[in-house]
Amino acid sequence: MRVLIYGAGQLARMMALSAVPMGIEVQAVDVGSETVVDPISKLPAGMSLSQAIEEADVLSVEFEHVPEHLLEQAHVSGKLKPGIEAILTGADRVREKRLLERLGIANCAHRIVTDVEQLEEAVAALGERLILKASRDGYDGYGQWRLAQAADLAGLKTALAELDLNKVPLVVEQMADFSRELSLVGVRDAKGRCQFYPLAENLHYQGQLHVSLAPAPGITEALTTQAQQAFTALATELDYVGVLAVEFFQVDDRLLVNEIAPRVHNSGHWSMQGADTSQFENHIRAICGLPLGCTAALRPSAMINIIGCKEFSQQLLSIPECHLHWYGKSVRKKRKMGHINVSAESYAALGARLEKLSGYLPMEHFPKLVAEAQRLQ
Ligand code: ATP
Ligand code: MG
Ligand code: MG
Repeated sequence: MRVLIYGAGQLARMMALSAVPMGIEVQAVDVGSETVVDPISKLPAGMSLSQAIEEADVLSVEFEHVPEHLLEQAHVSGKLKPGIEAILTGADRVREKRLLERLGIANCAHRIVTDVEQLEEAVAALGERLILKASRDGYDGYGQWRLAQAADLAGLKTALAELDLNKVPLVVEQMADFSRELSLVGVRDAKGRCQFYPLAENLHYQGQLHVSLAPAPGITEALTTQAQQAFTALATELDYVGVLAVEFFQVDDRLLVNEIAPRVHNSGHWSMQGADTSQFENHIRAICGLPLGCTAALRPSAMINIIGCKEFSQQLLSIPECHLHWYGKSVRKKRKMGHINVSAESYAALGARLEKLSGYLPMEHFPKLVAEAQRLQ
């Protein structure tokens, strides 16, 4: 079988690597240049996009922000999984919020704003601690603004003046007072059967994921049930096929959906070593119509993103059950360069390994690691 992925970054690469043992070939489209490449070597595959679409059995995406004309072309081929509606929903916060509301799934109180003059109204309705998100093209916290107090509103309006909010509205959300961030990565096959990885706990810094822990410590059955019910409702409504991630805020014992990602997700990378079947392999299996693999966690695992740096000691590999996944990209500030997966038989042992790991890494780029290592021990 042959799969064509839109987007030629690390997620396409990890899907391709997981497909090799199953004898499935994966190609990727660089959506900027519309060139078809091998996602592992990054070398051009030597064929046009229309030929690659023709020769592929299945098309899928590694991220939701695929230019609409490409998505439309993929859709009309009849081979796109998940389908276009799921991808468009994940790419547009207005659609996403409407879907959550329609399904009655708890999320942050919000307003859709198409003119900066509506911001006063939003403050009156939601309070003065707000997060403003461009409805399209945001990821890793880009395209977001925060309001801490009503007195800062005038400055914020000036900062937003250049945006065409009629074209790309803002979703203005109440800041959630959450105790932690969790995510559920799951997979749904074409017959509608869902399997779920355990909830992961996610530590963000400046809007970007730094560390995931799975299974999230102290998870109750009630939390898992809420998360799986939200996932199932969304995936069923979207007639979803493949891996889907749902991000949550935990407020007391309640989960609020933050956003969904119609694809494999950074908070599922731990599954490469921490679960029997990784999220990448399960996505490939689902879209190719193959039986799904086991999603249970084998042992407590942590995933540490390497962001904006490449200086670290490869001696970190001397830590037992520690694995490096390097994406082979040039360094830029805030860019995800690779990740490290560490597992251990207990959370305390995992904490000790994370502490050891911190000795091999430039700590200024890993603001969450030491505190997390200490918390677990
Ligand atoms: P991603 O890379 O996950 O796609 P994104 O740019 O789409 O990120 P969000 O996930 O919406 O952005 O927000 C990024 C982070 O900002 C969240 O993980 C959370 O830490 C914080 N955040 C977002 N919305 C809220 C909110 N309503 N209340 C409190 N914190 C929030
Ligand atoms: Mg997002
Ligand atoms: Mg997010």
